This record gives sequence, C-alpha cells and structure tokens, in this order.
Amino acid sequence: MAVNGSPELLIVMGPAATPDQTEHVVARLQEAGAQARISHGRQATVIGAIGQLEMLVGIPLEGFPGVERVLPILKPYKLVARELAPDPTVIEVKGRRIGDSAFGLIAGPCTVETREQTLETARAVAAAGATMLRGGAFKPRTSPYTFQGLGVDALEILREAGQETGLPVVTELLDPRHVEEVVDAADVVQIGARNMQNFLLLAEVGRIDKPVLLKRSPSASVEELLMAAEYIAKEGNERIILCERGIRTFESSLRYTLDLGSVAVLKEETHLPVIVDPSHAAGRRALVLPLARAAVAVGADGIIVESHPRPDEALCDGPQQLPSSEFDEFAGEVRELVELLGKEVG
Ligand code: PEP
Ligand code: MN
Repeated sequence: MAVNGSPELLIVMGPAATPDQTEHVVARLQEAGAQARISHGRQATVIGAIGQLEMLVGIPLEGFPGVERVLPILKPYKLVARELAPDPTVIEVKGRRIGDSAFGLIAGPCTVETREQTLETARAVAAAGATMLRGGAFKPRTSPYTFQGLGVDALEILREAGQETGLPVVTELLDPRHVEEVVDAADVVQIGARNMQNFLLLAEVGRIDKPVLLKRSPSASVEELLMAAEYIAKEGNERIILCERGIRTFESSLRYTLDLGSVAVLKEETHLPVIVDPSHAAGRRALVLPLARAAVAVGADGIIVESHPRPDEALCDGPQQLPSSEFDEFAGEVRELVELLGKEVG
C-alpha cells in the first residue's frame, strides 16, 4: 500500500502485547486522523504513526495497554529506517533469499551479448552455487559509441537462461518506457548507479511487484542512497536491496573506491539488505576476490559479480569479469568465509 506521508512516530509494543492492544493503538491513531503502518518482528511489534507530529504527540500513547515505548523518527528517511522494522528485511525470490542469515551470490555477464555467451555463463555460475543470475540488456554506457546492449532481445535470452538454470534474473531498467518488458522478464529489477537519483524512475519501480536492486551512485552519500530507497518504498514497494559499488575519490589505482565503511553504516541505519559489487569497484579481476572477501567480512548480505566465458572478447567490462571456468573456485572461497561467519549462501 502506498503511504501518504512519512511515519513521524514509532510505537513499540511490549513483547507481551496482545493483538487487541495493537488494534486499540491503531484505532486511536485513525480516530485522530492519522495512519498506522504495523510491522511484526520476532521480538516486538512496531507501529509507525503517519500524521502531523504535533497532533500525534498529543495522544497519550505511552499510557496505552501494551505500549512499551514511543519514539520520534528523527531521520529524513522513515520507511527504510532501521527503527521502523525490528528485524532485518529478507528478500525472497523464487526460493532464494538475501538478508539476515542468507547471503546472496548474484553472478553473470556484465552484458548479454549472445545467447550462447549468456547460457554458458549462466550454467557455470549456477553449477558453482550462484543464487541469482545477473545480465545487462539495456546498458548505461559512458560513451554513446560503445555497445548499448541488445535491449528487448536480451530480455528473451535472460528469460531462457533463468528458466534453464532455475536462477532468478536480475537486470537493469534504464527507461520508464521499458518498465513492462523489463518487469516481465526480470525477477529483480536493477536501478543502476547512474539512475540512483532519477526520482521518476524510482517512483516507477516503487509501483511494481518485483524486488528492486538499487545501486549507489559513485557520488552519492549514504543519506542520499537511503533517500533514493525511500522514494521507492513510499510508493508501496518495500522489497529493496541496496548495493555499494564504489565511489569516486582521488584514488586512481582502482576503477572506484569500494566504500566498505558505508556498508557498515548502512547496516546500522536500515533494515534493508545491503550487498556489494566488487567487480565495478575493482575494475580488474585480480582484485575481485579480495574485495568480495572484505564485503563478506564487513557484514554485507551478498555480492554481485561479473563473469564471462571469454573476458578478452567481452563487449563491456572485460578486464573485471571473472572467466566462467574460474567462477567455481571463486564461489568456493566466498562460501567458506560466509559459513565461517555463521551465514549461508541463500
Ligand atoms: C551494472 O551492474 O551492470 C552496472 C552498469 O553497474 P553500475 O550501475 O554500478 O555502474
Ligand atoms: Mn559491467
């Protein structure tokens, strides 16, 4: 359900609160012209009260039976704020999970180039235990003279690869005019780094019934990323996976600077799962495994990695793509660390 206005107040129900007591709070909020958003966690039920803060604070909620605490949400982001959901959000797609104890291993080519190249990669990453298949159909390229992706034809190829391997498909939506085709072929819709603040596109995916993978812009702050996610959540779609993929700094020895500190901050600030893209940050394949390991160690909920059967022939991002024949070894190294930290590849 789309939310009109942002929750200003959180009402945390005590562990012994009954459903009737929660209903009583909600009814009182509604009577006062406010809306309520209920979130049931393992430990507690939290009610987000949406309405004028001045009016809400006039209701003596602290004294209501079952109410443990009443807190204002001071952050500019509300629906994605950690406070609003007592438990971490787990995104489930076709039986694959990302979040909490489930680590997502998303892999596939940067770009769908041919049917054979995509199927070959999909089979290799599926056999190695990847949990989702990535692949670009519509590519956001810096130069208008480089390969822009196969578009709708690539969506068909991805659909076939997804069906054959059973892996959910992640692909990027660049243009609101392609929503229908992309949503139809994709299991998770990616909003790329360049579109992180394309607010109309964000609102568009806020109205679809598929999870969204939202990549951080290389020049966006953590708060700007969370506000971008808020645009999506506000329209009703709260199935959002955030992705750190490297930011622009003075450092030029890598393609981007992978901001792992921000991953730790995001884990504090939001209940949404946070994954890392070591491929685009590294820019070269030798660095992908060390950065992937670091992502696991910092507490990321997954990684998204590029792989190609013959990276030397790739039409895009060849130097950073892992040869598909080596993906199995890579996945093994990552899995070992994931399990060491008490999680499992979902
Ligand atoms: C991608 O993942 O295909 C991509 C283009 O990455 P980014 O948007 O992070 O540059
Ligand atoms: Mn790429």
